[in-house]
Amino acid sequence: MASTTAQVLVLGSGQLARMMSLAVAPLNIDIKAFDVGSENIVHPLTQAVLGHGLVDAIASADVITAEFEHIPHDVLDLCEQSGKFYPTTKAIKAGGDRRIEKSLLDDAKVKNAPYAIINTREDFDAAVATVGLPMVLKSALGGYDGKGQWRLKERAQMDAIWQEMQQCISESPAQAIVAEAFIPFQREVSLVGARSTTGEVKVYPLAENVHTDGVLTLSTAIDEPQLQLQAKQMFEAVADSLDYVGVLALEFFDVDGQLLVNEIAPRVHNSGHWTQQGAITCQFENHIRAVCGLPLGSTECIRPTAMINILGEDSVPNSLLALADCHIHWYGKEKRAGRKMGHINLCGQTKAELDSQLKHVAAILDNDAFPVLKHLIPTKAMKMV
Ligand code: ATP
Ligand code: MG
Repeated sequence: MASTTAQVLVLGSGQLARMMSLAVAPLNIDIKAFDVGSENIVHPLTQAVLGHGLVDAIASADVITAEFEHIPHDVLDLCEQSGKFYPTTKAIKAGGDRRIEKSLLDDAKVKNAPYAIINTREDFDAAVATVGLPMVLKSALGGYDGKGQWRLKERAQMDAIWQEMQQCISESPAQAIVAEAFIPFQREVSLVGARSTTGEVKVYPLAENVHTDGVLTLSTAIDEPQLQLQAKQMFEAVADSLDYVGVLALEFFDVDGQLLVNEIAPRVHNSGHWTQQGAITCQFENHIRAVCGLPLGSTECIRPTAMINILGEDSVPNSLLALADCHIHWYGKEKRAGRKMGHINLCGQTKAELDSQLKHVAAILDNDAFPVLKHLIPTKAMKMV
């Protein structure tokens, strides 16, 4: 068939649904978004309300997918019953519950940080004995952007941290804490890739990620064949074990060239936004291609690219657009401190050119709002040249 037409319903109505919609409009694929909070069906760009309730939206969709993993299980079950939902509800549930995620990684024999599950104070004591200190404690449900986490360095902190963890556990009968060994990594990288309905896998180059206060601030595509191979094997083990369809992201710790999976995201991922300008086919198009049963597009990198997150700011100087290869993506959200408001994709023909572009951007942007760029700012003398 020469033209594709499909109606896709996305669970979640944030920036990821918005960017999916923008990416597949040329393919005649129409995206509607389900706002999980209000239960309205909304337009992913304008947020205009198009309908109410999930049942009718499921009936009129050809395919259903999700842009985030914290979705009520009754909503997921309803979507699964329609037979139209991709990747799988199992994958979404694993992404939203660190206990399921950890056992999935173990079953797929993919290296990850040693851990224990805590429901009671006795479990906490046992975890300290088996996992050891220092450790990172994470709520099993609902964590994102580093929220719902504690760092335990010494036993003396245990009582105070337990007070907070106990409060968290008591908020829902399904809640628990996952205690993980602290991994002394050199850096964090992630692999975004897609698996099609026929089981074909295509992955993008790894991205090196910098977090500031637990939130991703800078992501740069890297070209490191040995690490790429290792990451791809782990990606395939996870994706195959889930019979996954769509885009999946794996976050890793790099410890002396050995990768450990930190977590999986069963969706398009912030560390894959660079693909909009840096890859032949972006992650948003590839996700929708996969869930619609279409062939995947090439994931090849076309030029060195980096992505800078815009957090808590609703404007940046227009002079950024005067740079040779600088692209701004706003999400149309109301300004709130720390909120992901948009991102900047920056490219160069060579790595050196990208580095120089990054320095230009660092000199233009307010460095208090973009602390990750501080170390790139040229000295005063250089600025005057
Ligand atoms: P996001 O959804 O933004 O990816 P999150 O809230 O799901 O974040 P994690 O990715 O698990 O949380 O952790 C946030 C950050 O905390 C990681 O990117 C890493 O920098 C650090 N971190 C998490 N687990 C560990 C660990 N076991 N050892 C050392 N650092 C860790
Ligand atoms: Mg993470």
